[in-house]
Amino acid sequence: MNYIADYIPRNTPCNRRPGNAMTPTTITIHNTGNPTSTAKNERAWLTNPSNSRTASYHIVVDEREAIECLPLNEVAWHAGDGNGDGNRKSIGIEICESGDYAKTLDNAADLVAKMLQERGWGVDRLRRHYDWSGKICPRLMYDNGKWTGWTKFKAEVEKRMKTADKSDVAKLIVNGKRVDDGIIIDGVTYFPARSFAAAMGATIAWDNVSKTVKVTSK
Ligand SMILES: [Zn+2]
Repeated sequence: MNYIADYIPRNTPCNRRPGNAMTPTTITIHNTGNPTSTAKNERAWLTNPSNSRTASYHIVVDEREAIECLPLNEVAWHAGDGNGDGNRKSIGIEICESGDYAKTLDNAADLVAKMLQERGWGVDRLRRHYDWSGKICPRLMYDNGKWTGWTKFKAEVEKRMKTADKSDVAKLIVNGKRVDDGIIIDGVTYFPARSFAAAMGATIAWDNVSKTVKVTSK
């Protein structure tokens, strides 16, 4: 998934980027409430002259990409709780409803897992918009008040954090000496060819035209 930062200007109308410093303590999940808008559309809406609402969000994610619309250390108006901790201390993430929603949810879970890990946080740091103001949001996780989608989303995030924690890094040890780290992707272990060849006393050459690694042993 592509991740880009495309900040709205500081002078955006309706105080949508107030510029207040924020030290976030939680991440708040929303649905856009619009079945057809993409991440790009949602970002564009924040600076659309016909938008008269004092409402904004930090990140919007769809089936293709995530766009950071405001810096994550500044206040955005997304939680509906005035000067409460939702608006003042939480990063607001809007999940788009358009296109391949399963893929969008997958992207959102990847993104949130990474953000929690970077901050040393667990899924207990996740909030619904509902938790701050009682609004039925993220609405596609509501399930008539049972919030099964919400429970499932948090489980998906947790699963990704566990996987990333434990099983995707592999050590490369040659003749008893640790020479590099590799990574496991879908059950296949990948190592830097150069490290491995050097440790085996072989020479290595890279042909950029044919994208070929040539290893020659002595
Ligand atoms: Zn919301």
